[in-house]
Amino acid sequence: MLDIEDEKIVDEVLEDFAAIAAIPRPSFHEKAVSDYLLGVFRALGCEVRQDAANNIIADRAASPGYESSPRVILQAHMDMVCVAEEGVEYDPLRDPIRLCRTGDELSAEGTSLGADDGAGIAMILYVFRHAEQVGPLRAIITTDEETGMSGAQALDAKVFSDADILINWDSENFDELTRGCAGSVGVDFRRELHWCNPMMSQAWNISVCGLLGGHSGERIGDGRGNAIRILAQTLHALKNAGISFSVASMTGGSARNAIAAEAEAVIATQSRREEILRVISDMEQHVRTVLGNVDPGISIKLSEVEMPAQIMGDSEMEALTDALLLLHTGVFQMSSTMPGLVETSANLGLIRTEGNEVWFSYFVRSSVDEKLGEIADACRILGTRLGLAVNIATPSPGWRERPQSELSDIMATIFEEQNGRPMKVGVIHAGLECGWHIKKAPHLDMVSIGVTTCDIHSPKERLDLTTVVPQVRLVMETLHTIARGKYTLK
Ligand SMILES: [Zn+2]
Repeated sequence: MLDIEDEKIVDEVLEDFAAIAAIPRPSFHEKAVSDYLLGVFRALGCEVRQDAANNIIADRAASPGYESSPRVILQAHMDMVCVAEEGVEYDPLRDPIRLCRTGDELSAEGTSLGADDGAGIAMILYVFRHAEQVGPLRAIITTDEETGMSGAQALDAKVFSDADILINWDSENFDELTRGCAGSVGVDFRRELHWCNPMMSQAWNISVCGLLGGHSGERIGDGRGNAIRILAQTLHALKNAGISFSVASMTGGSARNAIAAEAEAVIATQSRREEILRVISDMEQHVRTVLGNVDPGISIKLSEVEMPAQIMGDSEMEALTDALLLLHTGVFQMSSTMPGLVETSANLGLIRTEGNEVWFSYFVRSSVDEKLGEIADACRILGTRLGLAVNIATPSPGWRERPQSELSDIMATIFEEQNGRPMKVGVIHAGLECGWHIKKAPHLDMVSIGVTTCDIHSPKERLDLTTVVPQVRLVMETLHTIARGKYTLK
């Protein structure tokens, strides 16, 4: 339980958090929340700008006597991933998030909470309201972090020209300090279909399930199974076993940046159930051996379904399964400088049969931007060879760790003094807007922090309120230390 003083701070942070949660703010629909923030920062006496991408840039004057101290940028994003539990009626464009506090934990009723990154904004507002004996501060609250970082991409480089220090407030663990992240590029493959009428006697659903899935940045190094790939392997094995069949649909995965935990295909065939089952159970055994104890729940199931109205041609199906088998999923390379860190990886996240096409997504991450380009090139060649249309999105740049970060040293020292244990300092294999910032302003000394949240981007998202006050103290002391001239690196 929090004591009375701490409770007052948490209540005030929650007041701002609740005000933001009341405004629907999925990515690309941030105008209302952006206008709201414009008003809030203005009411705090800041000089505020709203740019064409609806990013908010707010300047707070230095405390008296600290006018010549270095400016510090505090940065968060205003959009959120809006998802609801099954059966919950929720319109992300109209409905507010309904907050629910249980003890020291905050969650939402039936939907994602938006602590990612509403917590970052509420914490920045707290600092703006209360910081004393600090130099000039700038808040940058961006739009559309979640679907492509287009807000960060659109930021005018000038917002970084009079500042050397940036704290990104969009991480998930209070005791972790991030000083580097991976870049990424999304590649979508599409195959147009020429539907045929099925002339077979039976139709079956083949479903790959029981896998762990997980975030493709955080969990890719574990070697977990990818259901989309395993589905392609199964179809390939059926063909190799001489079973003639046609595919009516392929569906799998839940997000581009999640390892596909489930995938299924509907096939039409003349072959008997036992023949198909034999191949499937051999494949299940094969995959089990490959995955070992990393992902032991894998199962491939067969069930009879109604005959589909249409099926794909053989060459279309082969092009798709070949592509899925040739695209590497998992780790390409581990970091040569940071033990245990994945340097480059790729993931098959989604496959869908829609209208007259099948499309699937391939998401590549790397802390070396050049490798994103190499793999994207290979994707283009592969797609062209197999007759698939390839769409390569604008890559999000990575953030390479700088050899020396005075900001990181200051914060880690203060953290240890205040909490009696060291802060975990490291680099992550996921994306942050810092990649765009550093591309525009290579001089920036940056870190990323955050209060502790769990299961973000899901209806189970939770915020650990016990981490609010220690993080306020950490940032206040950091700002004060910098203002007193303890920060020297230029
Ligand atoms: Zn976020």
